[in-house]
Amino acid sequence: MTEFNIDTSLALSDGEGSSKRVDSNKYIVLHETTNNGAWNNAHNEKVNWATQEAYVQYIIGDGGKIYSVGSEGYQAWGAGSYVNANSPVQIELARTDDEATFKKDYATYVEFARSKAKQFGIPCVLDESGNGVKTHYWVSKNIWGNHTDPVQSYLLPHWGITQEQLAHDIANGLDGDGSSFKPVTPITPQVSRDVVTIQGGPATGIAGWNSKGEIIKGSNSTFVNGTSWKANHIQLVNGLPMYQVSTDEFIPKKYTDQAGIITINAIAGVDAVNSKGEKWNNSSTTFSDMSKWQSLDNGCKVINNRLCFQVSTDQFIDAFYTIGGGNK
Ligand SMILES: [Zn+2]
Repeated sequence: MTEFNIDTSLALSDGEGSSKRVDSNKYIVLHETTNNGAWNNAHNEKVNWATQEAYVQYIIGDGGKIYSVGSEGYQAWGAGSYVNANSPVQIELARTDDEATFKKDYATYVEFARSKAKQFGIPCVLDESGNGVKTHYWVSKNIWGNHTDPVQSYLLPHWGITQEQLAHDIANGLDGDGSSFKPVTPITPQVSRDVVTIQGGPATGIAGWNSKGEIIKGSNSTFVNGTSWKANHIQLVNGLPMYQVSTDEFIPKKYTDQAGIITINAIAGVDAVNSKGEKWNNSSTTFSDMSKWQSLDNGCKVINNRLCFQVSTDQFIDAFYTIGGGNK
C-alpha cells in the first residue's frame, strides 16, 4: 500500500470533537473546502470545532499534503448525523488556483480515498447504491443536506473534472494507467452570468409565459431543450420562479439548467439572509461566486420585497445574486 505522510500538528486532541465511534464502515465521504489552502482550513477546524460544529478527519491540499483533524473511526461533523455515524473517514479537498498544486492535490485525494476505502473494507465505487465512496452531493440527494461538493462546486467548474472522471479515478486509481487524469487549464469561467439553458422539458418545447401568468401561444416551438437564453431578471409568475427572456416573456426555472439549484452570481460571494431578512454575517465565504446550491422552487420566499431562494432551513439567497438574476 502506498505510504502517506500525514501532518498531525492540527489534529484534535483527546477531549476535542466527537467521542462517538462510528456505528459501521459504510462510506468514505468526499468534500471540498470552498476556499483555498489546506493548512488554514485544517487550522480553522481545529480552532473552531466547538462553535462551528464542522470538521472532518482529513484535509488535503497545499500540493498534496494531508492534514488530520478528527480521528478516523470516530464520527466527524461533515455530512449529517446518519452519514457521520457510518463514515469512518471524510476527506476535504482544499481549493487552489495553481495547476501544479492542483495536480498533486487531486492525485493524493483520489489515492488517499482509495487507500482508506480499502482499509475499512469499503468498495472503491463512487456514488452508486450501497456502501462505497460518496460525494457530499450524493449524500445531499440521497440522505440529507444541500451541499453539491466536490464535483459541481469545484472540480468541474475549476478543473474540468466530471463526475464520470472522478468515478473512474476512484475505481482505478491514478497509479495504474493514469491516463484518465487530464486536468484542463483553470477555467476563467466562460460562464455567462445571464444565460440559462433549457433542459428537462418535453420534446415539443416549453411554453413561455407573460407576467400575468398566461401562456404565450406557440412559444414552445422556440423554447426547446438545449437552447440558451439571456435572462436579466427572475420573478414569480404563477407562484413559480421564472427567468425574464424578453420584455414580457418568462420561462420557468424548473425547465432550465438551474432546475433545483441556484448558482451564485456575485464575485465577492453573497451573504445569506434569514426569513426575517437579517444577514448571516460572513456567510459570503460559503456562498462564493459560482458555487451551486440545492434550492427547490417551493422554497422561494419574498423577503423585504426581494425574491429569495432557500438554501437551508433558515438561509435564503437574494435571487438577484444568482445566474440570470440580473447582477452583472
Ligand atoms: Zn461537503
